[in-house]
Amino acid sequence: MELLAKINSNSHHSQEEGQFARLFEEEGIDRVDERLAVLRIFLETEEHITAHELWELVQKAGRNFEPEFVRETLRLMCRYGFAQRREFKDRESVYEHRHLGQHHDHIICIKCGKIEEFVDEKLERHQARAAYQHGFYMLQHRMEIYGLCSDCLSDHQMGISLVQAKPGESLVVMDFLGGAGARHRLMTMGLKIGDKIEVITNDGRGQVVLAKGNSRFALGQGLAEKVMVKALTSEPEDF
Ligand SMILES: [Zn+2]
Ligand SMILES: [Zn+2]
Ligand SMILES: [Zn+2]
Repeated sequence: MELLAKINSNSHHSQEEGQFARLFEEEGIDRVDERLAVLRIFLETEEHITAHELWELVQKAGRNFEPEFVRETLRLMCRYGFAQRREFKDRESVYEHRHLGQHHDHIICIKCGKIEEFVDEKLERHQARAAYQHGFYMLQHRMEIYGLCSDCLSDHQMGISLVQAKPGESLVVMDFLGGAGARHRLMTMGLKIGDKIEVITNDGRGQVVLAKGNSRFALGQGLAEKVMVKALTSEPEDF
């Protein structure tokens, strides 16, 4: 099965190379052979890569093209439907293959940056229906799930300092580190061991804002570092 997928994707790729050369020649685009070399290198990776990473792969393959030439070729690849640019939250743009008639969505780990792809036909139909119910005909959509991958999640389930927690995370307070002063300040704020909290914002550089029930708390970095928390997770319902 895996072998078949590989063969399919190889014939797919050689087909794309042929189309690329033909289209670019018809359009009067310069340096077609060199651009074709960039396309080949791009098609060899199945990752989501930045323009700079593609340039590095090109260098590694022994082709000494200027970064701007690689960038421009990528733009052309996007314009003519061979590549697709993706903009994920808080990240540099990445590029991936664009195989005609194939669509997929993404799950992104906000901690380590891992990107997984998925296809869910039911979800696709639901989105088209949601648009239709609002009087729209769906042309495109972007479905991105941000979360913690299983490796990152297991770290958070072991226990982390609040400064390492991510916005949206549900946590339980395990312990307060530091002296009696910090403990006392946290207690008088209304934070106790065993409390369930949710992180509202954490830019990783200072203040952490969190919610406990209907109250909001803002902790400076010094204090947030002393709060030990653990991820609270449960399987989605209807699983
Ligand atoms: Zn989709
Ligand atoms: Zn991760
Ligand atoms: Zn993708």
